Amino acid sequence: MGMEIGYQSSDKDALELGVIICKHCSEIIGTLPMDGYKKVHGICPDLDCMKTDDQKESAG
Ligand SMILES: [Zn+2]
Repeated sequence: MGMEIGYQSSDKDALELGVIICKHCSEIIGTLPMDGYKKVHGICPDLDCMKTDDQKESAG
């Protein structure tokens, strides 16, 4: 007798298709739960990148 019962336990709620990429060093900072693959630009905690970003328009 050959019976195969396979139970698949995968969390479908955990969608992490979006990636946050540092716009300065192109480092992947993290992932975001999204419906589709998407690239989001952000700033990584790197001091150099943060400083570079500060050079941009200064909020006054
Ligand atoms: Zn960076």
